[in-house]
Amino acid sequence: MNRADLPGVLAREWDILIVGGGITGAGILLEAARRGLKALLVEQRDFAWGTSSRSSKLVHGGLRYLKQGQFALTRESVHERQALLADAAGLVEPQGFAFGDYVGKKPGRRQFMLGLAIYDVMAGRRARRYVDAADFAMLAPHVQREGLRGGMLYQDAKTDDARLVLRVLQEARRHGGVAVNYLGVASLIREDGKVVGAMLKDAVDDTAPAVRAHLVISATGAWADGLRGQVGAPPKLRPLRGSHLLLPAWRLPLAQAVSLMHPQDGRPVFAYPWEGVTLVGTTDVDHGASLDLEPAITRGELAYLMTALRWQFPQLALGEDDVLATFAGVRPVIDSGQLDPSKEAREHALWLENGLLTVAGGKLTTFRVIALDALRRAAPLLPGWQADLRPLPIFDATRPLSGKALLLDGEQRARLLGRHGAAAQALCDAAREGELAPVPGTQTLWAQLRWGARNEDVRHLDDLLLRRTRLGLQLAGGALAIMPRLRAICQHELGWDDARWDAEQVRYLALWRSHYSVPQGD
Ligand SMILES: Cc1cc2nc3c(=O)[nH]c(=O)nc-3n(C[C@H](O)[C@H](O)[C@H](O)COP(=O)(O)OP(=O)(O)OC[C@H]3O[C@@H](n4cnc5c(N)ncnc54)[C@H](O)[C@@H]3O)c2cc1C
Repeated sequence: MNRADLPGVLAREWDILIVGGGITGAGILLEAARRGLKALLVEQRDFAWGTSSRSSKLVHGGLRYLKQGQFALTRESVHERQALLADAAGLVEPQGFAFGDYVGKKPGRRQFMLGLAIYDVMAGRRARRYVDAADFAMLAPHVQREGLRGGMLYQDAKTDDARLVLRVLQEARRHGGVAVNYLGVASLIREDGKVVGAMLKDAVDDTAPAVRAHLVISATGAWADGLRGQVGAPPKLRPLRGSHLLLPAWRLPLAQAVSLMHPQDGRPVFAYPWEGVTLVGTTDVDHGASLDLEPAITRGELAYLMTALRWQFPQLALGEDDVLATFAGVRPVIDSGQLDPSKEAREHALWLENGLLTVAGGKLTTFRVIALDALRRAAPLLPGWQADLRPLPIFDATRPLSGKALLLDGEQRARLLGRHGAAAQALCDAAREGELAPVPGTQTLWAQLRWGARNEDVRHLDDLLLRRTRLGLQLAGGALAIMPRLRAICQHELGWDDARWDAEQVRYLALWRSHYSVPQGD
């Protein structure tokens, strides 16, 4: 959609207005649009700006949920993981995990293997294995050897979370759904006690248009209590922050993901190879800061994650100087008053309150299940709409790439198809000389930057470097070194003059330093 067409779009009669452009909102838009609903999604910042670009990026059953007895969530997640591996290949990839079995450490071999057996039954295939210490050390060469008896191996999957949101939105648009970023809901319009639309705030031109819909669905994640408050509902969410580190792969080289129980508090933490770097996470702490600001790791969380790394990989002598970038996300967890944040349940919930349907909690992995659940709840509120709400393949099948794209190897082509779906061919066709090469040190092609700038609703430089691509997390200094070439490719595509580019660069680098770098201080 061209932004100039927005007034006409907002004047249409919508069946549903979805508030929030994270994975939950995107999933609802796709499942609604492909079932014939006229659906509009609005996101106050950038698509995936919220938690959905700040997750641990695992598409997983969640062994820890099994330990907490959340069997339904684990079964559902394992099923969705398998579906995503099949339907979103190139975007969702298998990831092998290794967990060391140490003398005197919990969980021991028996308990862990039992959990993995349940995991395997749920997935309908056997992936678990126990190996002795020598084999384990070969698979994960830098791990702590003292007390190592052997280790457990199992399979999960990983993704690029922001690209997953963008791909879901792209598919939704192919089915007629409309999604607009930088357009927030300022307030709900209520008539006779029923929510019938919203007053919006357009962050691009600072206008305040209105939109009407038969049903408003809030998929605002950790922000959900804000809109719920407008219909008189009491707060229910407990914002919990989880922070991550990114290290260069050469400093923490891993062929497998390594998961471990933190030596201080026994919480599960992990390190795994992601997009050419090593991703380490995560913490689980109450998030007291304003939700208007981007969340950021604290010194305490940094120290906590470094302690885990130093314990698990003592030979590598890792220090804070090795950290390339950091990021933090806020979990929209439903508050049950647990003292320990990690004990709060992670299942999603639906609340229909005075005409506002809110969907919160859950996981990235289960977005399709959550979307279908939301539509099941929405159906009685949409007179005349009946649909088969059984799951469909997550994405429509794509055609193999041809032409210039054949210069790429098979893995690169699969990545592009996974990330860009049917647009991958046009992306390759639009590439200029040398742009089908990767940005050094990453798997991102220069052509993806041109495409993102031209076609993917980029309004600020951080949209391009933190969500359309993840270069701001993968390259030192937020990708400072590639700015000249980035500018040469993207400035014209974005229609920015020199002053705008300079201002965007200053804004982006300030944001990166304050929220994505290693925090300074005591
Ligand atoms: C640290 C951490 C690690 C995680 N790891 C994993 C993992 O490995 N695997 C997994 O499956 N899940 C994981 N999760 C869970 C998963 O990331 C979340 O459940 C999921 O991203 C939530 O998506 P969402 O769309 O509901 O919320 P969000 O992605 O937060 O989207 C909500 C959006 O609503 C927008 N919004 C808010 N108010 C308004 C308004 N008034 N108008 C318009 N827009 C508005 C916000 O800007 C935001 O973009 C993790 C979560 C965290 C915090």
